[in-house]
Amino acid sequence: MITPKQSDEIVLENYKDKLPDHKQKGGLGEKGTKVLDDTEFKKIYDEAFGDDGEYDFTSAFADPSTGEVFIHRERANEGTPYHETLHLYSSDAYLRLGKNMIEGTTEYFTRKETNGRGINRSGIYDEEVSAISELADWVGDDMLERAYFGGDVDGLKEAVDQKVSKGTFNKFQSAMSAGNFDDAKKALKPSKGKI
Ligand SMILES: [Zn+2]
Repeated sequence: MITPKQSDEIVLENYKDKLPDHKQKGGLGEKGTKVLDDTEFKKIYDEAFGDDGEYDFTSAFADPSTGEVFIHRERANEGTPYHETLHLYSSDAYLRLGKNMIEGTTEYFTRKETNGRGINRSGIYDEEVSAISELADWVGDDMLERAYFGGDVDGLKEAVDQKVSKGTFNKFQSAMSAGNFDDAKKALKPSKGKI
């Protein structure tokens, strides 16, 4: 298991220059993470989401507004604390892009770390990650990091529109928000003969 403390260290090692000043001292994962048994986890989940039908499939969640992460002890994957810690470092601007963009990007960065450690994350936001990977293919991880950690969503949008075509980012984001991952990927394909 990547512990919350290790998660903080990995974030700082890889993304410190992208973070705003107040997050550069790190420690957000260690400070905010609570690993709970089923009874404790359910109580907090019910308070946050009520009976939304997703409880049985939830292994963890983060509340970026308070900096808290709640992890279900038995359900969590080895990489879960790292994924949740990443949420705590993501920028407010990126958080406004919608759940699927947020989760796809968080999991994309998670796998960059877990793949090398032999941690299997398949089945966790696979489609979201696949679409975000294609976005990253166009603009590069550095640009994606500047938006996710540093809040330069405008820069990301501009870069995507410049590389593919005007309006692409908005199309991609709308399709992601609607859960139409194939449409999101299609939005990234330049139309022929219009170069
Ligand atoms: Zn998440």
